[in-house]
Amino acid sequence: MDHEKNRRKMVSRQLRSRDLQDERVLDAMATVPRHLFVPRAWQRQAYDDTPLPLGCEQTISQPYIVAFLCEQARLAHGDRVLEIGSGSGYQAAVLAEMGMEVYSIEIDPALSDRARENLARAGYPDVRLRAGDGYRGWPEAAPFRAVILTAAPLAIPPPLKKQVEDGGCILAPVGEFEQNLVRLTREGRAWRRESLLPVRFVRLRGEAEGLPED
Ligand code: SAH
Repeated sequence: MDHEKNRRKMVSRQLRSRDLQDERVLDAMATVPRHLFVPRAWQRQAYDDTPLPLGCEQTISQPYIVAFLCEQARLAHGDRVLEIGSGSGYQAAVLAEMGMEVYSIEIDPALSDRARENLARAGYPDVRLRAGDGYRGWPEAAPFRAVILTAAPLAIPPPLKKQVEDGGCILAPVGEFEQNLVRLTREGRAWRRESLLPVRFVRLRGEAEGLPED
């Protein structure tokens, strides 16, 4: 398998041609070895235009969605980012490759261990990982420029809002069956809410399941 060639094709056919323009994101997507983040049985499909199973009923997002999140988080080099839902560690690796300081929380301890191995093997040992419910965020490392949820709640967990700096944002798929990718941008004490894209992510488990719908 020529992974590098498949990666270049992925960038031109799935990302650039669909209006993704941020060269820092495209460069990172062309660099991170996605095949090291998918289970061995799925490696041949690693660069296909689709989400893939990770085991434990979870999935690694389609490349387009990973790149879209990176672009829409509106980050600058060195920004601190919190991801909720490490999964395979792939999204965290792309953010790290873009030069961000990355923190990521995963509720399933077995997946968190696997993310740690994947990130080390792929050359991103500096990503900070924690196993646990991401509902309460990572207050010791706050504030973050962006908080990115890769699992869907019915409403954004209030503790996460407190950990975003002024001008920064939360990106989250919100909803049950019909989900929208929502961006909440902090403007002083107010929040601006934008709906960016219809999406389909796995459910955010744990404490968030008790939240009333937004
Ligand atoms: N970003 C991942 C894909 C995430 S799939 C990647 O790049 O591979 C969504 C992940 O969110 C799953 O691994 C799931 O176990 C995790 N998750 C679900 N609820 C969570 C919670 N409350 N806190 C942290 N992680 C959670």
